[in-house]
Amino acid sequence: MPRPVVELSDCVKCEICIDISPAIFRMNDAGFVEIIDLETYQEAEVNDAIKNCPEDCIYWSD
Ligand code: SF4
Repeated sequence: MPRPVVELSDCVKCEICIDISPAIFRMNDAGFVEIIDLETYQEAEVNDAIKNCPEDCIYWSD
């Protein structure tokens, strides 16, 4: 299943993705955005996060 990925080296931790979809993105204890493990990912929500990420560092991976 495709899943979203965050390129952490480009992430500025603005948390916009978390605001858009807290069921998919979260801040981990180390202070980095991570993808919550899910069976499937709401395509529209992920695409919304991709569209709004200021660093273009969210993408789909197969
Ligand atoms: S929107 Fe992009 S830059 Fe902002 S926290 Fe999420 S992944 Fe990082």
